[in-house]
Amino acid sequence: MRNFFCGLLAILSWELSAKELLTNQFKVLDAPDWLSESLVDSASSRVQNYLEWDIRRITVRYHSNAEEFRRLGKVGPKVKAYYLKTDSTIHLGPEVTAKNFKPILSHEAVHVILAQKYGAAIPPWLEEGLANYVGSEERSDRKWLLSQNLPVVTSLRHPATDPFDSRLHYQLSTAAIEMLADKCDLKDLLALSVGRKLETHMRHLCEIEDVNKTFSEWLKKSASAKPRKRFK
Ligand SMILES: [Zn+2]
Repeated sequence: MRNFFCGLLAILSWELSAKELLTNQFKVLDAPDWLSESLVDSASSRVQNYLEWDIRRITVRYHSNAEEFRRLGKVGPKVKAYYLKTDSTIHLGPEVTAKNFKPILSHEAVHVILAQKYGAAIPPWLEEGLANYVGSEERSDRKWLLSQNLPVVTSLRHPATDPFDSRLHYQLSTAAIEMLADKCDLKDLLALSVGRKLETHMRHLCEIEDVNKTFSEWLKKSASAKPRKRFK
């Protein structure tokens, strides 16, 4: 009987502590105490402006249990968050903290917008790069890339289940986006690509015929140059 009451008490206190947040874009389940609606909003607003899209509300679930988080997404220990298309939910693992929340949710918000707005228009080899570049505002380490045995950039697949090391995948895909931002107006290219293949427009707008050839030439040339800061 005592055990029953203890169990009941545990469920009740869990119910009381489970926090739910609601914004126009996200319903956050099991939100940790440090998370607020304004922090959630600030993580998605810049990405939405850049990609010119209001996210149709989806669920974000915070997992305090690392094992459950990894099992659900079939992800390794390095992954902190992921967007699952099958349940249309962004899953945040216990390593997401007040400090790293913003770039992580912004990165996942890009994946959501790519799915909701662009469909299959963005090629898989550019998806992680776009989420890094627009979402987390991360830039590539081109000198490191040049020291690696690089696969052909268009052979990258999304999600990153290809045989390449995940750091290599993220760096390479981000560098590919930086190349496009260098060669043409990335916002124009993305705007044109809605519903159609981005690769088709890459030829016209950025004058890129052979993307793999152009990319390796660009990488060699730009590795010594300092990466550009943020967006124009
Ligand atoms: Zn990603």
